Amino acid sequence: METKDYYRWAERAARWGADYLKTLRQRPVRARVKPGEVASRLPISPPEQGEAMEAIFADFERLVPDAMTHWQHPRFFAYFPANAAPVSMVAEQLCAVMAAQCMLWQTSPAATEMETRMVDWMRQALGLPEGFAGLIQDSATTSTVCALLTIRERALDFRGNEEGLAGTGQLRVYASPQNHSSIDKAVRISGIGQQNLVKVATDESWALDPVALRAAIEQDLAEGMIPAGVVLCIGGTSLGASDRLHETIAIAHEYNLYVHVDAAWAGSAMICPELRGLWEGVEAADSLVFNPHKWLGAQFDCTIQFLREPEMQVKTLGLQPDYLKTLGESDITNYSEWTIPLGRRFRALKLWFLLRAHGLEDLRQRMRNHIAWAEEAAEQLARCEGFRITSPCHLSLFTFQFVPDGTDADAMTRALLVSVNDDGRTYLTQTTLDGRFVIRFQVGQFECTRDDVRDAVAAITELAKQLQRPSV
Ligand SMILES: *Cc1c(COP(=O)(O)O)cnc(C)c1O
Repeated sequence: METKDYYRWAERAARWGADYLKTLRQRPVRARVKPGEVASRLPISPPEQGEAMEAIFADFERLVPDAMTHWQHPRFFAYFPANAAPVSMVAEQLCAVMAAQCMLWQTSPAATEMETRMVDWMRQALGLPEGFAGLIQDSATTSTVCALLTIRERALDFRGNEEGLAGTGQLRVYASPQNHSSIDKAVRISGIGQQNLVKVATDESWALDPVALRAAIEQDLAEGMIPAGVVLCIGGTSLGASDRLHETIAIAHEYNLYVHVDAAWAGSAMICPELRGLWEGVEAADSLVFNPHKWLGAQFDCTIQFLREPEMQVKTLGLQPDYLKTLGESDITNYSEWTIPLGRRFRALKLWFLLRAHGLEDLRQRMRNHIAWAEEAAEQLARCEGFRITSPCHLSLFTFQFVPDGTDADAMTRALLVSVNDDGRTYLTQTTLDGRFVIRFQVGQFECTRDDVRDAVAAITELAKQLQRPSV
């Protein structure tokens, strides 16, 4: 394709996209392909000669959309959402055309300065105090790895980077079992080691138990280990559980431990002032991550990591070889020094478009609706015979089991989930709760309506009845 043909094909893509979004509700939510099916339709080797765009585009339409799970489907209630407000898609198109690489201020002044401003807009939107700065990353996982590396270097007085980890003492990090597996990944990558991630007991509401935290730190100190950091969660992935930040951060700081808070999903909801009790005490966190690409509506990928003292992370991760120095400028920010990769995408633009086009009030209303509709769905299911709510709504996430009298709860619940997802009207995923197989139901898709939630509940109960019928 020649540059002169760009308009024609971009227009064709936009037309395809508009039609896709308009007809999403009619598609099954989850892809209906078997592993290997798509690969079997792709040529084994690359073409030697260029092909016509007509053929490429036709193959895209033939091979791709039906083999995708539709995250923007209004009846997507699985995992957490990965919302893309259409306005953020438009911003992404513009980024794609400029194909900006935003590693340094000099390589992309608008991207750098807009990133600073968007992070501060979000700081205000979430009700965080002045003083938090931050950056836009690709994922919560990357942000958590950055935080764990900072935890490591801070505890080692910044010697780990220079001397390596052999011969240092045994660093310890504390978190509850409700934390996401990205914390496990980060302690592995940072060289702290899985065995040194202490999974602290939780209380009856699945929040980290402060008494157990203190006891674990004391025990490690007594054994000559080096307590280094605490990772807390607000809105855990499994059940939506949250730690009590005020109390636990105070204990962590009493022992001079660095605190990283993972609010990847629930953070977006903190634009609603009435929900902020959930993370009371957050202003004392050293590092805080949340994903505007989940509930808020900024197209994937868009993660914000806030830092109370960015210097700590920059000291851990920043390098300035001669070929990356910006001559003649000293008072500039180069965000690549705050994170792992050098190259960076222009992620602030879609946030700017999103926040301006919708305004905080519209985004708040969507979340308030999602929470109210999730509560309705939980009440409705609780009234249906054989259904049991296993964890209540945390924001817009609850879990349930399907246990008609005298049946095996795990087996029946699993059978219902398979049946619901094969049916296609909605899409749900599972987790384990105290060893039991439970189904998660989270409401948060950007275009979802109350009817979509009700239709999903109707589909679930209808399929459950079919499962109960004696087989013929
Ligand atoms: C989604 C999620 C993550 C992982 O997010 P990525 O941006 O995909 O790395 C981590 N923690 C929590 C609580 C999450 O919900």
